[in-house]
Amino acid sequence: MKQIREDVYFIQGQDEMIPDSHCYLIGSPSSKDISLVDAGLMGKGNYKVGAIQELGFELSDIKRVIMTHTHLDHIGCLGEILEAIPHAELWVHTIEAEALEQGDEKAVYGMNMFESMCQAQYGIKPGAFKFEVDRKLDGGETLELGDTKWEVLHIPGHSAGSIALYDRKGKILIPGDTVYADYAIGRFDLHGANGAQLKESLMTLAELEVDILLPGHNRIVGALPPGYILETAKQWGQYLS
Ligand SMILES: [Zn+2]
Ligand SMILES: [Zn+2]
Repeated sequence: MKQIREDVYFIQGQDEMIPDSHCYLIGSPSSKDISLVDAGLMGKGNYKVGAIQELGFELSDIKRVIMTHTHLDHIGCLGEILEAIPHAELWVHTIEAEALEQGDEKAVYGMNMFESMCQAQYGIKPGAFKFEVDRKLDGGETLELGDTKWEVLHIPGHSAGSIALYDRKGKILIPGDTVYADYAIGRFDLHGANGAQLKESLMTLAELEVDILLPGHNRIVGALPPGYILETAKQWGQYLS
């Protein structure tokens, strides 16, 4: 757990056999209007909720959960978190929101083999990831979240409804699993993924000025070198078509 800025906090994922996504809290504490970005893997709800409280936040201040996308390692413990914070809204990109509302879990599991493996290993029942979504995001919105402003970018490729949140003033990017530290990018072989779209999305992100990169997994990066995302897109370009 870590403070990135006075209104941005980091809760590190606790990886197991399957990774657990990082979570971020955004919003100024005094606003009492805090957004949780992503949830995490199954069984990590208590850890994430405890971490929110250890950072000094009241659960009543958590007003919404915004999903960068709905893969299992990000949405697995959403139900556990919403049990602890039942008033929190759920905000998801339209494409994956509609799937969640219909109980279509292809985007959650990514592939059939993984679905049966996870259901066996974690005792998850089919239909466990059906959620009502309070706000559907399309990209292009500017969200006012607890005295901070974040632009929503639709960046399909890793998944069809992946979004990034971008604080233009603070030059902070939360790209979900689209781009990581160390010139790594998200996988593009799962249901709804598309290499050519991922390349385009990387090029979209490459246009942003980014100092602080807060990805879904692995290291977070302060003082990101200029041109980092463009360089990453170039390194992967030949594989993304
Ligand atoms: Zn993912
Ligand atoms: Zn992930």
